[in-house]
Amino acid sequence: MSTALERGVDMLKSQVDARVESYFSSCIHCGVCAEACLFYTETGDPRYTPIYKTEPLRKVWQSEHTLWGKLSSSLGLGKSITEKDLSDWEELVYDGCSMCSRCSMVCPVGIDIAYLIRKVKEGLAAAGFVPEDLQTASERALEFGSPMGLTAQSLRAATAALEKEEGIQIPIDVEGAEYLCMLSSSEVVLYSEFIAALSKIFSAAGVSWTLSSKYFEATNAGVQMGNSKIAAELLERYVEVATELKVKTVISPECGHAYTTIRWDGPNILGRALPFKVVHITELLEQLRAEGRLKTTCCFDEHLTYHDPCNISRRGGVLEQPRNLLNQVAPNFIEFNETREMNWCCGGGGGVSSNERAEPLRLKVFNIKKRQLEELNVSTLVTSCSNCRTMLEEGLEEYDMEVEVIGLTEIIADHLA
Ligand code: SF4
Ligand code: SF4
Repeated sequence: MSTALERGVDMLKSQVDARVESYFSSCIHCGVCAEACLFYTETGDPRYTPIYKTEPLRKVWQSEHTLWGKLSSSLGLGKSITEKDLSDWEELVYDGCSMCSRCSMVCPVGIDIAYLIRKVKEGLAAAGFVPEDLQTASERALEFGSPMGLTAQSLRAATAALEKEEGIQIPIDVEGAEYLCMLSSSEVVLYSEFIAALSKIFSAAGVSWTLSSKYFEATNAGVQMGNSKIAAELLERYVEVATELKVKTVISPECGHAYTTIRWDGPNILGRALPFKVVHITELLEQLRAEGRLKTTCCFDEHLTYHDPCNISRRGGVLEQPRNLLNQVAPNFIEFNETREMNWCCGGGGGVSSNERAEPLRLKVFNIKKRQLEELNVSTLVTSCSNCRTMLEEGLEEYDMEVEVIGLTEIIADHLA
């Protein structure tokens, strides 16, 4: 039976593809990526330099795919990866990287460093070097369908309570609906106002939609921990329920990595095209607005700004839609100094916010968001990712800042004409 180290190294070897080869062979070691990473800028610790986080994969690439590496290995001069390396990189990668991809934007030779870090996670996960919280979340996701352990009953209880409180209707398991809206578990237990907002908006705009009780979870614990097998198994569940319900389009809810996973990575993870279209809820709201089906009233008078979720804005390209929507309801909308595809991450993506061990570090790096907010002096912060929302609320509380965080869908629902 292979050891944990052997499993990790074998997995890292299997992760070396053409992109990995071209990226490592073109890195000019300029260090520019460091200044783009909040884990480096806010700690000053050179270990958090983005490209350094890929070191285990680089070592494997060098020893297996370069002449010098092969020669060194054959002469016993090459440095092999050790269990200590895997243990050290577990902390660097899972606690010290939110997979925000800001580093990938600034690399002068176009290296997608987040792509490489995702592959490092595959090696660490294969060797069992994964934070306990992420491991547990993935086990719950496989067993219950939700990383928080929620079930169909939890969803029905939450929606029944909303229907009673708000006097709305929330369709569940409606075959032939045009749209299937997935949810993140936090939208069921923490931010159920998102579900109420969907119901109000879709009712006003005449949209045929449904939730699924069989499988509602949009987040993907396999992606967070770096296990493609689990990621694929969870993705298959989306495909199964969407196919059974015969929907044309799946809506990704206010969750960043869920959107990237379903919309962009899903076909690659599964190795085939998805049998439905995927849109982020923000994209659909903007489409409804442009078609004249979503009518809103002005005005949200407070000063507010928009936090671009990395996976939706930077990696997903959903940049104009939230701004077009906010400009309808909030004339006092102002932008962060660095925004859109260069926005600073909240610090909680990539599974960092689900990893309790990382709390002191993520609160430290939240300093960048704190400074950005202080420059604007806004009272409201809008975002379109529930994971960002949780991290933003946590950071604001830690730094005793009086800024309210609200979901984009919710603020639109609050201003329906
Ligand atoms: S910015 Fe790009 S080229 Fe420069 S060190 Fe980082 S990964 Fe290498
Ligand atoms: S993806 Fe974001 S957090 Fe991770 S190394 Fe790059 S800039 Fe830093």
